[in-house]
Amino acid sequence: MRCYLCGSPEQELVSERLRYESPRKVYRCARCGLVYLHPGMTPEEERRFYEQEYGEIYSSEKGTTPEQLFQSRLPDARMYRSWVAGTVGREDSCLEVGCASGYFLVTIREDVGSVAGVETHRLLRESCESRGIPVHETLQEIGEGTFSRIFAFFVLEHLGDPLAFLTEAKRILVPGGKIFIVVPNVEDALLSLYDIPAFRSFYFTPAHQFYYSRMTLGSLFEKAGLPQHEILPKQRYDLSNHIHWMTAGKPGGVGKYNHVFTPELLERYAGVLEDHFLCDTLCAWVTV
Ligand SMILES: [Zn+2]
Repeated sequence: MRCYLCGSPEQELVSERLRYESPRKVYRCARCGLVYLHPGMTPEEERRFYEQEYGEIYSSEKGTTPEQLFQSRLPDARMYRSWVAGTVGREDSCLEVGCASGYFLVTIREDVGSVAGVETHRLLRESCESRGIPVHETLQEIGEGTFSRIFAFFVLEHLGDPLAFLTEAKRILVPGGKIFIVVPNVEDALLSLYDIPAFRSFYFTPAHQFYYSRMTLGSLFEKAGLPQHEILPKQRYDLSNHIHWMTAGKPGGVGKYNHVFTPELLERYAGVLEDHFLCDTLCAWVTV
């Protein structure tokens, strides 16, 4: 059992419980701090997981069709669009990896030169195609230097071999092209500052094989031979959600106390978490 990132054989146990039933446990590398599930999935397990099991977990939990997923994710897509504004334009050919039903690509289609996706799930690919979005099943089937921008929202943490992904992304980008990566931050205040047991059991899930911090995400880019990167903090969940976790011990509660909290307070709270990198999300621009 060696760390994927630095090869160290030393680790500490972070959690024995995951959100769903699983034989895996969560460890943190004693040398570099990378947080990971062990035992990891084999490439075959990973492929099966995304073709069947994850889809089933998802649909039984949320009871959604691709169309409902599309509609319910539009607010997220608009938020992602605001995050990438200024770094994409009419000259860009854009690829989103893990594009699901295409909500982000539809949202930015008017801002950019072209859009395309990669999606392993067949029903989601069909949903994209019905919206006129060309979609590939894998990165491997895409030629060298095809795109100028690649987006991966909450994808990297699912991958058992993120270095292979970054190498493929580099191959299909034009020189000077950029990858925009968004992952959960394992230094999230609910975990690292308040350390709420219910959140800990909820946070770690069999679907996420690695859990990144600003430090370990940067190390991953360095190891992939991508030294030009900028990692930015983002807080998506609000103060009411945090108080709900503390009082009820479960997800939800967004906006619950907004009849008392002012917009200035909410903004300040999110800003303080971001200043300390105790926010829930990390965004990275990586230039190849
Ligand atoms: Zn390590």
